[in-house]
Amino acid sequence: MSLLVDYCPKCGNVFQKNFRNLCASCSSQADNGLKLCLDRLWSYPKSTTEDLAQATGVPLQELYVLVKSGRLSSAYPNLTYPCESCGTQTRSGRLCHSCSGVFRAAAGPAKAETNRQVIIKTTARVMYTSRNR
Ligand SMILES: [Zn+2]
Ligand SMILES: [Zn+2]
Repeated sequence: MSLLVDYCPKCGNVFQKNFRNLCASCSSQADNGLKLCLDRLWSYPKSTTEDLAQATGVPLQELYVLVKSGRLSSAYPNLTYPCESCGTQTRSGRLCHSCSGVFRAAAGPAKAETNRQVIIKTTARVMYTSRNR
């Protein structure tokens, strides 16, 4: 029977697989980072994600994951992470407000109409251009 081992995605060391998918030293480092963030937010509740990264040394990408997963409470008003579609800072869901609006509209009939008009306009322009050549 073989032991379930894997390479730690953070440091590359071989470790025994666990639910966190990090080796022991990386997961304690991550816990420590989270604790530093919480301490910092306790003193400076208005910190932005960038402020937090600078103050704690925890990489911004990791902070985004923590904020997104809710481990850093969304009760702090300036903790944001980038929208998965356009990169605008957002505070809830996977998409910013305007992108989730666009996606909602895309599902409705109004958007289909707009798309059709765009296609007609594009076709007209192509015909116009070729006639002038
Ligand atoms: Zn590691
Ligand atoms: Zn967006």
